[in-house]
Amino acid sequence: MNAAPLTPEAARRLVLEEAAPLPGETVELDRCPGRVAAAEVKSAIRIQPFDNSAMDGYALRSADTRAEEPRLRLVAESRAGHPAPVSVGEGEAVWISTGAMVPVGADAVLPVEDSREEDGKLLPTRAVQPGEHVRRAGEDVEAGQLLLKRGERLGAAEVAVLAAAGVATVECAQRPRAAIFGSGDELVPPGQPLGPGQIHDSNSYALTALVREAGADVVHAAHLPDTAEATREAIAAALSPVRRPDVLLVAGGVSVGRHDHVKGALAELGVEERFWRVAMRPGGPTWFGALPRDGARPTLVFGLPGNPVSAMVTFHLFAKPALRALLGLEPGAGRTHASLATAYRKKPGKAHYLRCRLELVEEGWRAHLTRERQGSHVLSSMLGADALAVIPAEVAEVGAGDRVEVELLR
Ligand code: AMP
Ligand code: MG
Repeated sequence: MNAAPLTPEAARRLVLEEAAPLPGETVELDRCPGRVAAAEVKSAIRIQPFDNSAMDGYALRSADTRAEEPRLRLVAESRAGHPAPVSVGEGEAVWISTGAMVPVGADAVLPVEDSREEDGKLLPTRAVQPGEHVRRAGEDVEAGQLLLKRGERLGAAEVAVLAAAGVATVECAQRPRAAIFGSGDELVPPGQPLGPGQIHDSNSYALTALVREAGADVVHAAHLPDTAEATREAIAAALSPVRRPDVLLVAGGVSVGRHDHVKGALAELGVEERFWRVAMRPGGPTWFGALPRDGARPTLVFGLPGNPVSAMVTFHLFAKPALRALLGLEPGAGRTHASLATAYRKKPGKAHYLRCRLELVEEGWRAHLTRERQGSHVLSSMLGADALAVIPAEVAEVGAGDRVEVELLR
């Protein structure tokens, strides 16, 4: 099929049509950071559950501190985890520690710094207001309050609040399972010397890192040599019902060269093409399809261009949204506007995605090209890139300082 290339937006829509959220699974709280909630969580308790002291000092009746030369009887102690066994009556006080329960009868805490003790009596050196230094039950979280929404990613703050609420496990979206292939006879793993015409395989490393950053697992990774048969066999093994990845990524070998066998192999294996070619640069020769499975979820298959920048950029634009949708996250990356620091010229027809570092200046974000060379083989242009500046297909020229849309990479 050689239809006209799609716009990146249309291509992304076709990808998202295939990506329904994965089911949930129960995850221990300490394993939750990086995971995505598959169900909302409400607090069963108030935080904190009881009125407690914000200071080390004395729980008492504030009115008593307004007497002339007050001398209060110290009748008990309330320590953290050990409430006082008595209530506080008129003319009485209770030693209290930070976080300890305020005893019944007391309505304020006098800090230790504002008092002295004499013959077992408490002598306040100032009056306190009702409620002073008392942290009310539920000031932080009320019972029934929503703590976590469905489709929210958990980090340190989320697990901390859930722990405080006594939640020990969370229903999280299953992690998508990804299989990754690098393709090409020229590829040699890092750590091995290069022979004539060989290069190190960087795409497998880039994609593995990107898949994991997105919150998915790499369940299978392998190399495809440039023969039709070996390519078909290796992909067939990865797609087998036993492995059943949610996503299969192949970088390289998808184009129209005499030694590009990936598309043919995928067709033979029953993977249905959804699009081939996108009107963009880098990343034009991108292929996407789905392998339907009886009674089970399909495997989404991305044939990404082999050029290393293209592989990474198309992962960000197409594969990452799919992984996010599988996780139940909002699929789109963050977007904002920035002024392009230098002018940029191109032929109209394809959208260009420029690797940029963002700087916050007085007028807002400014986008600097990470490298002047933006070729799809210039992998070092990904170093330090915060975002892709989007130069729309129809645009031929962007002036220095002109506003462009940028898509955040992290
Ligand atoms: P292909 O799509 O297979 O024609 O590859 C396009 C370009 O990307 C060629 O220059 C390849 O050498 C290069 N390339 C393909 N796969 C990788 C990889 N895994 N790591 C680094 N470069 C690659
Ligand atoms: Mg190749």
